[in-house]
Formats: sequence, C-alpha cells, structure tokens
Amino acid sequence: MEVKIISHTPDPERVCAIAAALTHSKKRPEEIEKMDDDSLRNILSHVMDLGHLSVVEHASFTFAISGVSRALTHQLVRHRIASYSQQSQRYVRFEDAEYVMPPSVKKDENLKRRYEDFMKKVWDEYNHLIDEGIPEEDARYVLPNAAKTNIIVTMNARSLLNFFEMRCCMHAQWEIRELAWRMLNEVKKIAPTIFRKAGPPCKTRGICPEKREDCPWYPKKKDPM
Ligand SMILES: Cc1cc2nc3c(=O)[nH]c(=O)nc-3n(C[C@H](O)[C@H](O)[C@H](O)COP(=O)(O)OP(=O)(O)OC[C@H]3O[C@@H](n4cnc5c(N)ncnc54)[C@H](O)[C@@H]3O)c2cc1C
Repeated sequence: MEVKIISHTPDPERVCAIAAALTHSKKRPEEIEKMDDDSLRNILSHVMDLGHLSVVEHASFTFAISGVSRALTHQLVRHRIASYSQQSQRYVRFEDAEYVMPPSVKKDENLKRRYEDFMKKVWDEYNHLIDEGIPEEDARYVLPNAAKTNIIVTMNARSLLNFFEMRCCMHAQWEIRELAWRMLNEVKKIAPTIFRKAGPPCKTRGICPEKREDCPWYPKKKDPM
C-alpha cells in the first residue's frame, strides 16, 4: 500500500493551540495570535490532557491511499467523521487482476498458488461478462474483497485520534492496522504535539478495553478499568 498526506490545514498545531488558548483566556483572538510557539504548544498540550479534544477539530489532514483491498476500505469508511472519495468500480474497468494477498495465505506456497489461480478465474469471468456486453457496474459483482482500490480520505485530528485508537490496536485487522500506523507516522511529522499520545489504548493509556490478555501488547500493569 502507499499512504501519503497530500494536503493539511496550514500550521495545524498553531491553529488548534490558538483555539485552545482562547478557551482559557480573557484575551481576544488577535492577542492570542501574537503568542510565541512554545507558549501556545504548552497550552495545547495542557488542554488536550484535560480531554478537551474539540480544539483539534480545527486541523484536517487529507491522505491519498492506494493499493489497499476493498475489505480494508469497507472497514475504513465505517469511520463516519471523515470525507471519502473512492475509485469507482462502476466507471472504471479493471482488466487486470489486481488484488491484495493476506500474509497468512502468502506464507504457504500451496495456498498462495490456489489463491492466485482463483483470482485469475475471477478476473477471467469479470472480463468475459464485460466482453459479452454486461456493464462494468454489474460485472463487478464477481470481484472479490481482495480487489485493490484507491481512496482519498480527509479527517480532522480528533477523528484521527479516535481512528488510531481503534485501528492501531492489535485487534484491528493487519491491513487496516498497517494503514493506521502509517497514517500516524505521517501526521506525527506535521503535528507532533497533537499526536504525541496517539495510538492504541494499551500504548497511550495503559489499558486494554478488549481485555485480551493473549495480546503481546497487553499492558503489564493492572488494568484500572
Ligand atoms: C477491532 C474492531 C472490530 C470491529 N468489528 C466490527 C463488527 O464486527 N461489526 C461492525 O459492524 N463493526 C465493527 N467494527 C467497527 C466499529 O464498530 C466502528 O463502526 C468503527 O470502528 C468506526 O468507529 P467510530 O464509530 O468510533 O468512528 P466514527 O464513525 O468516525 O465516529 C467517531 C465518534 O463520533 C461519535 N459518533 C459518530 N456517529 C455517531 C452517532 N450516530 N451517534 C452517536 N455518536 C456518534 C462516536 O463517539 C464515535 O466514536 C469494528 C472495529 C474494530 C476496531
């Protein structure tokens, strides 16, 4: 998969920090805007630690994601506080078999071969339907969850924090988990203060809401929940 930030709110941390400072100050916004970066950053950290996360809704990030499966994007678009534009299987014809193979299949030579053979059959059937005059939008019904797709996603920072909490977790599926960690690594470069504590709850809060002790990341200290 490829993951890239193609756009974001200019100076996202400063915008959110000004919003955070405004909530705790008698000063007018014009005065707060003149504050130095360090002071603003400290206020943003403090307000986020209080759990007032609405201030980071002022920063948005747009990701271009390609080469992921339709299974992944089905999980991704369940995150409603976001905007999406996905490559259409109605308007685009996918002549070539382009699909994702799970690592669990890839590591077994025999299963890998069977999987590849099956995908070839699927695409042969898809192309045959279109050659017989069936429109792409109907032929696509034979395509699998594994079919590769591209999607553009815009989320604000608060929604991203929720997304990372749910999808960086070991209980999320491997593919969306990889996506979530890659997105987190990218946003951290741009907004390290906002995302300094982002990630699954075991890493950020030392708790496991799923209470799955078999997980390698299960917090060692006693779960306070
Ligand atoms: C490990 C894992 C397993 C999962 N398994 C399943 C499954 O088996 N079946 C399944 O259907 N889904 C499953 N999901 C999807 C999950 O239930 C959520 O739909 C998805 O993760 C989106 O999360 P969200 O609602 O918090 O995000 P968003 O939709 O982005 O919402 C963000 C937050 O906004 C608030 N919000 C948004 N919409 C509303 C609303 N209508 N009313 C009130 N508050 C709202 C909530 O506080 C929510 O947390 C799974 C997710 C994970 C991580």
